[in-house]
Amino acid sequence: MDKVRVRFAPSPTGFLHVGNARTALFNWLFARQSEGVFILRIEDTDIKRSASEYESRLKKDLCWLGLDWDEGPDIGGRFGPYRQSLRIDIYRSYTQKLLEEGKAYYCFCSLQELEKERKRAISLGKMPVYSGRCQAISLEEARRRVDAGEQAAVRLRTPEKGDIRYNDLVRGTLNFDLKLIGDPILVRSNELPAYNYAVVIDDSLMEITHVIRGEDHISNTPRQILIYKALSLTPPQFVHLSLVMGKDNTRLSKRHGATAIDQFEKQGILSSSLFNYLALLGWAPPEGEEVLTKNELVELFNLKKVSRSAAIFDYDKLHWINRQHIKELSSRQKAELAYPYLKESKLLPEKMTDAHWEWLEKAVESLIERVDRFSDLPEQFVKLFEFSPSRMEDKTKEELETDCALRVIYLFAEKISRLDSFDYDKFASLTHEIKRETGCKGKDLYHPLRVALTARDSGLDLDKFIPLVEKGAKLSFPKPLKNCSQRISEVLNFLK
Ligand code: GLU
Repeated sequence: MDKVRVRFAPSPTGFLHVGNARTALFNWLFARQSEGVFILRIEDTDIKRSASEYESRLKKDLCWLGLDWDEGPDIGGRFGPYRQSLRIDIYRSYTQKLLEEGKAYYCFCSLQELEKERKRAISLGKMPVYSGRCQAISLEEARRRVDAGEQAAVRLRTPEKGDIRYNDLVRGTLNFDLKLIGDPILVRSNELPAYNYAVVIDDSLMEITHVIRGEDHISNTPRQILIYKALSLTPPQFVHLSLVMGKDNTRLSKRHGATAIDQFEKQGILSSSLFNYLALLGWAPPEGEEVLTKNELVELFNLKKVSRSAAIFDYDKLHWINRQHIKELSSRQKAELAYPYLKESKLLPEKMTDAHWEWLEKAVESLIERVDRFSDLPEQFVKLFEFSPSRMEDKTKEELETDCALRVIYLFAEKISRLDSFDYDKFASLTHEIKRETGCKGKDLYHPLRVALTARDSGLDLDKFIPLVEKGAKLSFPKPLKNCSQRISEVLNFLK
């Protein structure tokens, strides 16, 4: 087989979202596993809707996902330029050839006329296909009218009858009746190439071997094949990927949650997690394993095994995968990823000392298990920093007011006040003494202490909580962290 060459060809008219990121990713996986070439081509001929801001965002999001390209705008390559607006002359030369050969013709029909024709066809119960009226105008006459300033599109002359058949790697043989296609527009009256036309010329000149794209392009493919034929070019292998849907079986949209790639990034989904999850949208590894690294995916991915049924985007599963990828990170990496969210929530200072980082690593290690995403961490950290017995729920407060609880916490307060420093080992020996002196044990002993130290009735285990607040109380934070002895005395004041 020829060296695999695939491309991702976004139109810079919006952000990179789940659907087209999955398309880019399948192309990339296929290129990398076949040691082929992955090309980025910017399809910006819709000048009204294209914006360079979108292009830079698209490129940034692809980079964040780890989808690097071998040829493309900025880096170039043998088949550039890789931005369609810079290839207009190339398309123009093919158009002249097609016109000369009589395979294409100028169409002078106005939008109003075409609309009228369309409505008439629909009212007669026919498919609204262009009638081919302008086919009768000779090239000479058409050129005269164009030179005189009349606006014209260029259409491909297609056979009236017959069908177009092609083999899709995922869907098998697909057949289209030419009667339903009509003469596709190649060049619009504003002289810019239509999508179907530019894409054929580019895919062919860039020697693309496999066109892997969304199934919304299935109906464009027969038109593109007609153009390949007219230009005597060989079409590539087509692969159409199913749509990405929400759990309710409607097309994935903002209603379902985040859809733009940078939103996932902002939420603290790791790029390796999103990469992993996108690869599972319409494909599954042979052994059904779900948590996979980029390299494992390159190894296992199989384009032939891509499913033709709709892929359902399951946010819960993405979050679960994210948890698994987070587990693989070092404490330092976790702390660094958590920091921006905690700084933003004004829990951590702008300037972090080594001691702050050391503390943060431990704190993140303890609290990360409680969340799916880094963006949910501040909520957990707030529970460490906020300590207000007066805001305890009544039910929690009552837990402190039993006879046993009161004896335990008063004794604890007395003992802790005699210590110069406190840590979990000291907590363990104090509780041992308190048990002996009060006869309270098990839940009766530990639960009142947990409530007294946290003003909550659930949360981190004390062996994690105590070192965090003791060490943290020695550091400076926007909102200071109280140590155990401060906590106990506040609780006692409150209970008085
Ligand atoms: N620019 C087209 C799109 O974004 C590309 C389609 C294709 O891959 O052919 O949908």
